[in-house]
Amino acid sequence: DPRLKAISEAIRVVPHFPKPGIMFQDITTLLLDHKAFKDTVDIFVDRYRDMGISVVAGVEARGFLFGPSIALAIGAKFVPLRKPRKLPGIGLLPRCAAGEVISESYVLEYGKDCLEMHVGAVQPGERALVIDDLVATGGTLSAAIRLLERAGAHVVECACVVGLREVKGQPGLNGKPLYILVEPR
Ligand code: 5GP
Repeated sequence: DPRLKAISEAIRVVPHFPKPGIMFQDITTLLLDHKAFKDTVDIFVDRYRDMGISVVAGVEARGFLFGPSIALAIGAKFVPLRKPRKLPGIGLLPRCAAGEVISESYVLEYGKDCLEMHVGAVQPGERALVIDDLVATGGTLSAAIRLLERAGAHVVECACVVGLREVKGQPGLNGKPLYILVEPR
């Protein structure tokens, strides 16, 4: 696809962020380039338009930058998968039925993190797409898949703008296919 080169070049590489030795792939510069940003969304929309997807689940925070545009274009709802204690409801305060939350933790290079989803945002049997900006180890996407599957959804695919070759070469995450636009620069 001739659009991919410009998409890749629109992503800024920031050496030693947030830690020494890390080459951070900064997609905020992709958002500044209208053509590259639109092409990115269009490629996902063309791929997922006719797959019967009713849920686009975006991973906080950068999955929120691409997911809603894709959801609107393919006629799906958008479900935010959030970091702990961001979703109104359970955890901090006494439980209220309206805002019940389920959580899945995952291992990071140093430590642990967690994603949460509102119970009732997704109905059993719905077909879901998980979107994030970048996949590295796949730990984050795996937690997202587990959340959706606990709610009874069928995860059709995970999609990221940027992906590392090592993950791309693997068969998938929890058996789910992974679709990546460009390699890290
Ligand atoms: P994983 O769980 O696959 O190891 O890491 C992926 C998560 O870390 C994603 O949510 C992604 O936003 C974030 N992440 C890790 N490294 C980078 C990076 O270089 N650039 C960006 N934009 N996000 C990153």
